[in-house]
Parts: sequence; C-alpha cells; structure tokens
Amino acid sequence: MRIAMIVHGGAWAIPDEQVEAHLAGCRAALAAGWAILERGGSARDACEAAVRLLEDDPTFDAGTGSHLTAAGTVELDAAMMDGQSLLYGAVANLRRVRNPISLAHRLLQGPATFLVGEGAEHFAAAQGITLCDNRELVVERERKLWEAWRASQAAAADRGAQSVMGGRDTVGALALDQSGNLVAANSTGGTPFKFPGRVGDTPLIGCGLYADAQIGGAVCTGWGEAIVRVALARRVVDLLERGLAPQAAAEAAVRILNRRVTGGAGGCIVLTPDGRPGLAWNTRRMAYAYRSGASDPVYGV
Ligand code: ASP
Repeated sequence: MRIAMIVHGGAWAIPDEQVEAHLAGCRAALAAGWAILERGGSARDACEAAVRLLEDDPTFDAGTGSHLTAAGTVELDAAMMDGQSLLYGAVANLRRVRNPISLAHRLLQGPATFLVGEGAEHFAAAQGITLCDNRELVVERERKLWEAWRASQAAAADRGAQSVMGGRDTVGALALDQSGNLVAANSTGGTPFKFPGRVGDTPLIGCGLYADAQIGGAVCTGWGEAIVRVALARRVVDLLERGLAPQAAAEAAVRILNRRVTGGAGGCIVLTPDGRPGLAWNTRRMAYAYRSGASDPVYGV
C-alpha cells in the first residue's frame, strides 16, 4: 500500500524573511511523519508527530509562538479525524497544554469528542500531560506585536475588539498509512488578537478538517469565520466524492470560499486514498510539504 503525507504551515502573506523558517518547519514535520509511515506506523501517529513538531516551532501559530488574544494570552485549538473509523477528537480554548494535538489524538478513544477550556485541561492532567504556564507559550515576537496592536487599537478594544484578520500560520497534516487509513490533523493559536474564547474553523469537523479513508481528506487554513460558513473541509471531500481530482477539488473549494464569503481568505491541503495530493490558496503564500509513494518530497511557500 502506498504511503503519503502532506503538511501545511498556514496561508497568509508570509514575509520574504520568514520564508526559510516556514520551509524548514514544514520539511521537518513531513520528515517526522514520513519516518513513522515508512516503518509501518499509523497515520494517526504520523500526523501527531508532524503537528507536534510544528506546535513546538515558534515560527508557527500553533502551540509555542501562537498569536495572542486581545487579552494578551494564548488560547489553543486542535483536532484529529480518523478516516477509517470516522472517529474525531477536538480541543479548544486550551491555555496550559503545550501540544494540543496530542490531546485531540487521545480523544479519539473518548470519553468525549470535543473538550474545551478547563475541563479539557483537567482531562489532560489526568492523562499524565504536564500542564504549563500560559506565559511559557508566549514568544517575544508575539508579545511585541500584541503591545503594538494594543497601543494602536486601544479605542477599538474599548468597544470590544474582535479580530477580523485572516488566519496565520495555523498548521495541519494529512497522512495515509500502510493499512490504508487516512487521517487529518491540525492545530492553531487562532487569529491575531482574537476575542478571548473565540474558536475558529480549525477544531470543527467539516470546517477545518475532514477525513474519510474511502473518499479523501482535507485540512484548511485561513480566516476561520469565513471557512466555517462554507464548511470548507467537507466541501473539498464532497468535490472528491463527485469525482474531481484532488488538485481540482482544492482549487474549486477555495474559489467557493472566495466567492461566497466576503474576505474569504485561506487555503487547503488534500489527500486521496491512493495518495494523490492537492493544495490551493488565495492568500499570497501558503507553506507546505508533501511526499507520496516512491517520489521525492516537494516543498514550497
Ligand atoms: N483558521 C485559523 C483560525 O481562524 C487560523 C489559521 O488558519 O491560520 O483560527
């Protein structure tokens, strides 16, 4: 059975000076997941390993280095979906978990599908995951951005600022393992300066991710409030089900996002059960890496 994997590191106007770091992060994440698939490991483990690496890399808006909320804190969301069983696990609003993807993976076994906030953190602790201080997730770059934003937006903040900025640097992965399972996973700190408690598309099934090992899978990135309204990930899978090739499905779905929602900015990665990748975005750039079967890895921004 052919193995395949595709990862992304966010769709937005990645500045020239950050391109290398994005490429390096995606390359390392793909390599970590690929090593697991190659030795017969599961697509679940491959996705978790790839996403954990991206969460730990401060370049990306996931785990350490995430954007700050309007309140200056980090709030994390993540999800995983197993395409064979259609099991799905999601977490949102985590403040003290370094690697939310591991908790989402754990939730594929229950006791709930979707856990948020303190309840999710209690569950994490009960599973032996060491909770961190929220400040440990904050990097200097994001603290400075937040301070500049707060200084310039003080008046808006007084009115209850709610970011409508596009997404940035959310991370995601799709993997196909030797047993034919196809898994989708993602993780995010959400949009910059988001309203505390805000949850975007990332952990929502059918919006930020979807996987069906019989049809294909999709993982999305971009402005969550727009992606949710067109249920973008399921939209891609519907297009695959109708017979579109993965690249055509990715492009068509992003066109729908653009056409149906004003300001609908974002992108998606796609993988079919026979290991064909697809990817599309309507932002200036999207960081990605993929590999399928015996072919060499492909990287890009
Ligand atoms: N989609 C994410 C969100 O809205 C952000 C992103 O993809 O960068 O939370």
